[in-house]
Amino acid sequence: MTQPAPPAEPLYLDFAASAPPAEEVVDAMLPWLTGRHANPHADHWHGQRAAQAIDEARAAIATLIGGDPEGVIFTSGATEANNLALTGLLGPQRNRLWVSKIEHKSLLAPARALERDGVEVNMLDVDRQGRLRSSALAEQLQREDRRPGLVAVGHGNNEIGTIQDIAALARTAHENGHWLHVDASQTAGHNPLAVADDEIDLLCLSSHKMYGPAGIGALYVDPHQMSELRPLLHGGGQERGLRSGTVAPFLAVGFGKAAELAHRRIDQHRQRLESLARSFLDVLDAQGLDYALLGDPIERLPGHVSLHIPGVWADDVLGRLLPWLSASSGAACASGEQKASHVLRAVGLSETQASQVIRISFGRTSQASHALEAASQLLAALRRIHAVEAGSGFGN
Ligand code: PMP
Repeated sequence: MTQPAPPAEPLYLDFAASAPPAEEVVDAMLPWLTGRHANPHADHWHGQRAAQAIDEARAAIATLIGGDPEGVIFTSGATEANNLALTGLLGPQRNRLWVSKIEHKSLLAPARALERDGVEVNMLDVDRQGRLRSSALAEQLQREDRRPGLVAVGHGNNEIGTIQDIAALARTAHENGHWLHVDASQTAGHNPLAVADDEIDLLCLSSHKMYGPAGIGALYVDPHQMSELRPLLHGGGQERGLRSGTVAPFLAVGFGKAAELAHRRIDQHRQRLESLARSFLDVLDAQGLDYALLGDPIERLPGHVSLHIPGVWADDVLGRLLPWLSASSGAACASGEQKASHVLRAVGLSETQASQVIRISFGRTSQASHALEAASQLLAALRRIHAVEAGSGFGN
C-alpha cells in the first residue's frame, strides 16, 4: 500500500515541551514591542505605564494560582525559579532538602550543587505510577529530627504525566517542620492549584508551558516568608530584591494574558485534552497494540500520553514519524543525551524499556482529527518497523 505524501509541516504534538502562545497573548504583547517602549523601573510616565501593565500581569498570575500578587517574582523561566527556590532558601540555617527522584533537572541539578556546598540532600522514591505518597514522605521525614528543611516536588511530571497530591504533601512537610516547594511548570493553567489554600510555601511556573511566551516564568513566594530567601542575581534590586534585572514588559504582559485565559478556560481545556488523549488510545486499543501507558492512570496531565511500546526503539519510531508529526522520546530538555531517562528508571523501567518510550502531548490547538491521525501514523510507523525487522524482535 503506498502512503500519501507527508504534509508540508508535521503535526505538532509536543505541547508538554512547549505550548505556542495563544493569539490573544501575541495581540497583548505586540504594543509592548512597538509603540509602548519603556523601562518599567523608571519613575516617568512611560515607565509607570509599563510598571502598571507588569503589575496587572502579576495579579492575573496570582489569581490563577490562588495567591497574593505581592508573592509573584518574575524570572527567566521555571529553570531559574527552581534554582532560586532551592539556592535562595537553603544554606547554613535551613540545610536539608528532600527531593523526589523523578524531578526535572532544573530541580535535581541545583540540589546536587547544594549538596557539594554542604546541604544534606535526600532523594525520595516514588511508586511505579510515579506517585510520591504522603504516607511515604511522612515515614521518611519522621525518621529524622525536626531541624528545618525543604521538600521539593513537581506537581505534574513532564515525562510520565503523573500528578501529585500537593495539599497532602504540604501538610506532611509542615507537620514535620519543613517548607514545600512545588514545580508547577506542567500543571499551571491546566490543573487547578491554590497556593494559599494548599499552604504551598514556594511554587514555580513557566510561561511557555501555558501558551505564554518563552523566556519568562515566575517563582511564587508566600509574601510573609519572602525575607527568608536570598537572591541569585545581585543588581538593581528589582522584584523585591529577589531578582535583579529589568523585567521585559512584553514578556510579562504575554505571560499575564496567558494566565488570564487559562484561568477562564481551565475546566473546558482539561476536558478537551483528556478526550483527545482518550480517542488516541482508543485507536491503539482497537488495533490491539501492545503498549503500557506510563504514569498514574487517573491522576495525570490532560492530553499527555507516555507510552512504552515493547520491542521498538523510540528513536526509530520518532524517526519514521518525523515527516508526519513532532513528538518526543522523553524530556525535550534531556534530548541529545544517550542515557536512559532518570524518571523512567525511577518508576522501574529497565535501560532497554526506557529507550522504548515515546511521549505525545496534545494541546489547545489540537483537533479530534489530529488524535486519529497521530494514532494511525504511529501504527503505520510500527508496521514499517516490524516489516523490516520481521521476526528479529528484541528484548524488553
Ligand atoms: N520543570 C518542569 C517540570 C519542566 O517540564 C520544565 C521544562 N521542560 C522546566 C521545569 C523548565 O522550564 P523552563 O523551560 O521555563 O526553564
